[in-house]
Amino acid sequence: MDVSRRHFLRFSLGTGGGMALAGLAGSGVNLGPLVAQAQDLRIKNAKVTPSICPYCSVGCATLIHTVDGQIVNIEGDPRSPHNEGTLCPKGAAIFQLHVNPNRPTQVLHRAPGATEWEVWDLERAMNRVAELVKKTRDETFIEKLPNGKLANMTPAIFALGGATLEIEFNHIHQKLMRGLGVVAIENQARI
Ligand code: SF4
Repeated sequence: MDVSRRHFLRFSLGTGGGMALAGLAGSGVNLGPLVAQAQDLRIKNAKVTPSICPYCSVGCATLIHTVDGQIVNIEGDPRSPHNEGTLCPKGAAIFQLHVNPNRPTQVLHRAPGATEWEVWDLERAMNRVAELVKKTRDETFIEKLPNGKLANMTPAIFALGGATLEIEFNHIHQKLMRGLGVVAIENQARI
């Protein structure tokens, strides 16, 4: 029988988990202290540091739990007036921004028409990016508009910053892009 994820969850919750919880709750057992204890054990002895989710301009407040300098948990800060301890699904996964064995650690390049990725060293990749930016800019640079107005821009390059880039990086990035004549500049954090 083909069981979809939705059916599986509904079935699981509707039978085992749901019945167990409903049974306990129905018998008058107060699960509140148990849940609170499990929460306490998870972050027992952890140092708590307030922070902010970096993923969008809402800027939800978070609490980062660390043990021996290692992040063990990140959750919403209940003291925050606008997220009140909650985080959206993306923000709830911030832990993986720091601890993620699946993060690529090498530059991968796939040439036009190729079917396989090739590992490049960073120096080679940076040189190739610089080469292509210069070529594109040189080929598309508009010094003056048809009406004679000075433009000094290229419409062929678009810059998109990631939400986790910090202010200092964005400041330098803006300077570089505007210096090149790029006018289409956006950052995911603002979207
Ligand atoms: S990505 Fe989600 S959790 Fe993070 S600041 Fe935006 S709304 Fe809040």
